Amino acid sequence: MQLHWHRRDLRTADNRGLATAAAEDVVAPLFVFDDAVLEHAGSPRVRYMLDALAELRASYRSRGSDLLVARGDPRSLVPAVADALDSDRVVWNVDYSGLAKERDSDVRLALDEAGTDRETVHDAIIFPPGSITTNAGDPYSVYTYFWKKWRDRDKPDPFPDPDATDLADAETLESAVSSVENVTVGSLPTLSDLGFDAPDADVISAGTEAARARLADFCEDDIYRYADDRDFPARGGTSRLSTDLKFGTIGVREVLAKTAAAREGVGGDRDESVEEFQSQLAWREFYTHVLWFNPSVVSENYKEYEHDIQWRDDPEELTAWKSGHTGYPIVDAGMRQLREEAYMHNRVRMIVASFLTKDLLCDWRHGYAHFREYLSDHDTANDNGGWQWAASTGTDAQPYFRIFNPMTQGERYDPDAEYIKQYVPELREASANAIHEWHELSETERNRVAPDYPDPIVDHAERREMALSMFETARGDD
Ligand code: FAD
Repeated sequence: MQLHWHRRDLRTADNRGLATAAAEDVVAPLFVFDDAVLEHAGSPRVRYMLDALAELRASYRSRGSDLLVARGDPRSLVPAVADALDSDRVVWNVDYSGLAKERDSDVRLALDEAGTDRETVHDAIIFPPGSITTNAGDPYSVYTYFWKKWRDRDKPDPFPDPDATDLADAETLESAVSSVENVTVGSLPTLSDLGFDAPDADVISAGTEAARARLADFCEDDIYRYADDRDFPARGGTSRLSTDLKFGTIGVREVLAKTAAAREGVGGDRDESVEEFQSQLAWREFYTHVLWFNPSVVSENYKEYEHDIQWRDDPEELTAWKSGHTGYPIVDAGMRQLREEAYMHNRVRMIVASFLTKDLLCDWRHGYAHFREYLSDHDTANDNGGWQWAASTGTDAQPYFRIFNPMTQGERYDPDAEYIKQYVPELREASANAIHEWHELSETERNRVAPDYPDPIVDHAERREMALSMFETARGDD
């Protein structure tokens, strides 16, 4: 028997590790609730994960098998389960963060000591770290070159979904693990068992079925307008697959295959639009490679400056940013969308991240920690990549002197203030013009237009100058 250890691959279809195990022998599937991972999780993510696990369990049950569920340290639990099942080999899909790498290497050692074979395969991304490099063999730090190679390379097909004959039956699982402590057959904890309150946010529906429905819906129509619509938050023209890809409820090869099919026979703008979408999947892989080769980016700047950046520390401003009360409408709309939906539109993520780092001059790590807690799609590589891009500290980052103007951004990407009004009810009665000129209105005008909405907490022009000088000092320019 083979043991497949599910981690961020909560599906059976297009799962390379599972298919690898099933090609050899019948498979017993396992999931471990690891307290060290849960420590860094926010309730929206745990909500999604529990729902996805319930669906995964149901899909195993429908094939006469079940999901083994353990709670504790995988370093001892994975070898214990393998031993109880008398399994020849444990297979799992690689995870890319520094913490995951350390844990996995410990599990590998423990299995070696126990004399159990193990195999790890790359599944979450199409091209593993080290497979797309410069001609000198180094990882890319510039996305455009990475993308060209990623785009032009042949892509694998989705992996087959195991059927009932590929899986260990539920009775066998039950009798094998009945005496293993902290391991059950199919009994999933609740949010509160894991120490979490129910999230305030309305978290996106979880699981493979929901992910496939989102993908099918997106590929019907929106994908052909993606290039035009993706920057406009009110248009809702993006796939919303980020949480599914984060937890692996859908395989990336399946997503790619479906988008490739949508591309067949269409030319011109439609073809370019599909390619634009595929290039976002490549960004995800680019940042995963960056994290793999530079695990310290999770807490350190990727880009070295001559001196430390002298970030400001103003708890009141940070609180205003987190709660969506900065007096900059597009920023506040984004921060409130995050609280309401555990999600934020990409353009607005860029705007709020720029605002935190370049207007409030606040260290990106505070923003990253907040996103990690509230986003359902929080992914170490992408979240970190996004923050360090905005803070001008990352790979291929925004140059330090290019600073978003939050009012101009709002006007350009939400001209009718539809998105803003959806999330900031205090501004619903105001005209789009008044919203986009909020920082220029007099106090009397503001009181008349939207009495409950705050004044801007900082002056953008002033803060822009301060940010430039903060970075110039860090660069040692003066
Ligand atoms: P779509 O536009 O439909 O894109 C399809 C998929 O491509 C996404 O689901 C995602 O997997 C990937 N993708 C899209 N844009 C990017 C990008 N810029 N970088 C890397 N991958 C991308 N994305 C996350 O998945 N998790 C995060 O924690 C995360 N944090 C971010 C933080 C900041 C500050 C910024 C600026 C961006 C962040 N992103 C993150 C990237 C991006 O905002 C989201 O992937 C996107 O908004 C998700 O919506 P979607 O699935 O509809 O995207």
